[in-house]
Amino acid sequence: MSASNIEASRKKKHRIDPSIKMKRQIGSGTFSFLDIFMGFEKLDAVTGVFGKKTQQILSRLNVEVFPREGFMGVSDEDGHIFASQIYLNTGVEWSVYLDVVHELVHVRQFMEGKELFDNSYSYADRPTEIEAYQVAAKEAGRIGMDEKEIFEYLEVPWISRAEHERLALACEVPSDIVRGKQIRNRKNSLPK
Ligand SMILES: [Zn+2]
Repeated sequence: MSASNIEASRKKKHRIDPSIKMKRQIGSGTFSFLDIFMGFEKLDAVTGVFGKKTQQILSRLNVEVFPREGFMGVSDEDGHIFASQIYLNTGVEWSVYLDVVHELVHVRQFMEGKELFDNSYSYADRPTEIEAYQVAAKEAGRIGMDEKEIFEYLEVPWISRAEHERLALACEVPSDIVRGKQIRNRKNSLPK
């Protein structure tokens, strides 16, 4: 799960492959993954997660769209994706796109029997989250996001700054970008 950074998305256009189509006017209910997220089965980022079984797994995967605010996640009971209808329809496209990639990593982790919500770790230090963010951050770079934008993508509302920094470093955002953001934040917080 992650938040979008609207500011960053206005400045830059990212190059999501034209073969990717995401339905953005979706109702609530349960849908087949490939009916609402088309073309993901061809992405290297996704075949890297599932290997030869990509098509088979995605054709059986369901997405439960719920009619409330929120983001996306994976059920730790049966491994289906759940997603906020509002987020799917109004979230910034590249953010929804990267979150789909992120959640697919959790789908595979669930199939491997991994504990998705292991509370012995904080969110940003949980190995399952780190792996999902690493895959999404790498894909973010491939579609043309720069390191600063990737750093901003990794800033989600429910983690502390220290967690955000650790997560970014784990996703190979260079430490000078991480430090630079800190300095800017301090300046921005000064009264004008
Ligand atoms: Zn996650």
